[in-house]
Amino acid sequence: MTTKYDAIVIGAGLGGLSTAAMLARNGLSVLLLERHNVPGGYATSFVRGRYEFEIALHELSGIGPPERRGGVYRYLEYLGMAEKVEFLHVSNLYRSVFPDLDVTLPVGREAFEAELCETFPHEAKGIHRFLERVFDFGRDFSRITRRRGQVNPATMPFRFPHFFRYLPVTWGHVLNRDVVDPRARAVLSQYWGYVGMPPSKISFVYFASTLAAYVRRGAAFPKGRSQALSSAFLARFEELGGEARMSCPVRQITTTDGRVSGVITEEGEEIQADWVISNADPITTCRELIGDDDVPPRFFARLQSSEVAPSTVNVYLGVARSPEELGFAEHEVFINEGYDLDRHYGMMHTVDVESPPAMVVTCYNIVYPEISPPGTSSVVLTALMYGEPWYSVPPAEYVATKNRIADGMIRMAERIAPGLREQAEVVEVSTPITNMRYAGAIGGSIYGFNQPPRDNMVWRMGNRGPLERLYFVGAWTQPGGGFEPSIMSGQMAGGAILGKIKKMQGGA
Ligand SMILES: Cc1cc2nc3c(=O)[nH]c(=O)nc-3n(C[C@H](O)[C@H](O)[C@H](O)COP(=O)(O)OP(=O)(O)OC[C@H]3O[C@@H](n4cnc5c(N)ncnc54)[C@H](O)[C@@H]3O)c2cc1C
Repeated sequence: MTTKYDAIVIGAGLGGLSTAAMLARNGLSVLLLERHNVPGGYATSFVRGRYEFEIALHELSGIGPPERRGGVYRYLEYLGMAEKVEFLHVSNLYRSVFPDLDVTLPVGREAFEAELCETFPHEAKGIHRFLERVFDFGRDFSRITRRRGQVNPATMPFRFPHFFRYLPVTWGHVLNRDVVDPRARAVLSQYWGYVGMPPSKISFVYFASTLAAYVRRGAAFPKGRSQALSSAFLARFEELGGEARMSCPVRQITTTDGRVSGVITEEGEEIQADWVISNADPITTCRELIGDDDVPPRFFARLQSSEVAPSTVNVYLGVARSPEELGFAEHEVFINEGYDLDRHYGMMHTVDVESPPAMVVTCYNIVYPEISPPGTSSVVLTALMYGEPWYSVPPAEYVATKNRIADGMIRMAERIAPGLREQAEVVEVSTPITNMRYAGAIGGSIYGFNQPPRDNMVWRMGNRGPLERLYFVGAWTQPGGGFEPSIMSGQMAGGAILGKIKKMQGGA
């Protein structure tokens, strides 16, 4: 058996799977080590009773319909695995429910804009102007992405003016100049749950690239849940000659003369490699797998300037009623207590709430009717919450705390789906602590580091680690959190390593 590999990838989350497949596709010998017993990280599922629940994915961007494929789909084609997963398409992007407003936004720029303008006719001009900015930016962003970020910084302001202009500002800064009505602003910003911060804090470029991606190409969901996508990555990686071990945590990254040289597994096996790629969060990677003494202090200073993004509280409900009986017509329904999104964000920092002020209700059967047994529904309630306040909940109060919040969330969901509680035959609640336990990320963060303008997808930490030949992938790196960005981070890191190897061979 080989004990030295070209590369070792630590963690089979989407970023790790993507990098491993990319490197194997290009002929490197790669070992993928995952501490859990299945691949995927957050991109996985679990079974309770007669239900198999999707853990994370609500809407996948970057797939697109056959005539307009997106970046993720084209990358899966490149890896030779696009045929391994069947993608279902969500018909409307989201339904937005407020105490005095209920609006559903469709896919496609024209239809999206038309619905908004019909709902807020007095804001039609501003909405049009704002969406123009979002899509102008989106076009520049796609052109840069197609060049895999290889653009000359000196000419960038002239060649990609819409991209460059918005780098230092928040989404709210741009939106508030064009749209005045707080209701219209809130509906346009409803996907803030997908980027983790409200308009006043989130970087325009991250939010705009997210919204443009969903509106232009729609959202998809893999048949077989996100586990099908993760398992397809693993299968393709192995077909390409890669080696993977599940239930194999890495305890240490070894170094020689400031350069990584391999890993030591939890069981004490030492394995060598020229390159080590970590899908574990960079703080844990540096602190626990390498050790403070071997990491340059300036790297920790850099890490300290970034904020860990929020985690989630989820209520997974297996309901003995069909979606029609429960009143569901849409896949993704956001319920909001009001229009003060900063207040909502503030409440994500405390567990002292009866229920969160905003959450999303996903009825997966709308896009994937066979996801649960006939006549039943698989419904998941998700609210963003920071991991920090959960650290101080005493163990004796943990169950009561999570059940109290879950109870409030079910009450909220019953506004759009009466009878949900009574008909639920399975209820499972997860918290940031659950996310920490299963995916291992600091704070149970689902998007790595937050993306305020100063840490946006261009300026945030890249994939280069603080030691030679150490790379990071996944939500913590560029371009950021979410399925599409995490997958693309693997392509970017893989590409960077292959480029280095080519250069070294050229120079040899
Ligand atoms: C409830 C929820 C809903 C979400 N909804 C969406 C959505 O609708 N759309 C979207 O795009 N995104 C969504 N996300 C976010 C998305 O799931 C994540 O951003 C993405 O999956 C993160 O991928 P990653 O590559 O960073 O790896 P992670 O999923 O964080 O996985 C890291 C992996 O590394 C492994 N690991 C860590 N340390 C070690 C070690 N020492 N040795 C071996 N293995 C190790 C872990 O076990 C894990 O498998 C959601 C997330 C959650 C939790």
